[in-house]
Amino acid sequence: MCRHLAWIGTPRTLAGLTLERPYSLLRQSWSPRRMRHGTVNADGFGVGWYAPALRAAPARFRRAVPMWTDASYASIAGAVASGCVLAAVRSATVGMPIEESATAPFTDGHRLLSHNGRVDPVAVRRMLRDRPDAPVPDSTCDSALLAALVWEHAGKRPLAEAVAEVVLSLDAAGSGERARLNLLVVDGTQIVATAWRDSLSYRREKDGVLVASEPDDDEPGWVDVPDHHLLVADTHQVTLRNMIS
Ligand code: GLN
Repeated sequence: MCRHLAWIGTPRTLAGLTLERPYSLLRQSWSPRRMRHGTVNADGFGVGWYAPALRAAPARFRRAVPMWTDASYASIAGAVASGCVLAAVRSATVGMPIEESATAPFTDGHRLLSHNGRVDPVAVRRMLRDRPDAPVPDSTCDSALLAALVWEHAGKRPLAEAVAEVVLSLDAAGSGERARLNLLVVDGTQIVATAWRDSLSYRREKDGVLVASEPDDDEPGWVDVPDHHLLVADTHQVTLRNMIS
């Protein structure tokens, strides 16, 4: 399983969000605390962020190497700040390619998506075949296929609805091992996330909301999201909804 996080609020540096916390994503790349599948997240990492004063489309920095080996990221991360950031470290699912294009965040040019889990690629391809408007996936990785499905759905309905619909339909479509579908999606104004067979937490802070696979410190305020829930957050509030009742 991968580990991911998203921040929405007043601008924070990428270093502050991903490198400098006591149990930062950097540390989670070799020593995650709550990961249910796998041990390290050394198959790549990626960060996406919005700089609305400069450009509407989000920027991305992705590499197919462990986060701790990339000095270039460390050197820019303290010099880039944003009010909406999504970041992930990757532990590739067996059989999935290890390449930059298979590394989150995925984007449709407006939104950013990360997937913590696994889904049957054959089932996703079958669903994509029925949707001529879906964009061509960036990679054969299950998460890239799933992102293309979300982009197609999000073109026709609100983001939270699109994410919920994709998760519920993929959960019903897979064969064999149950799909694990912790998704994290941002569009510059909101965070949409699912807890679907892996850990997810959030903390409301005085200047925004942090959503993460696991708490990045031991301070109070973290709330664990129950399994099978959809989370929607903006800078001021967080709502949770049970997706199976
Ligand atoms: N299945 C995805 C991949 O291979 C995500 C893996 C994960 O959550 N560890 O990249």
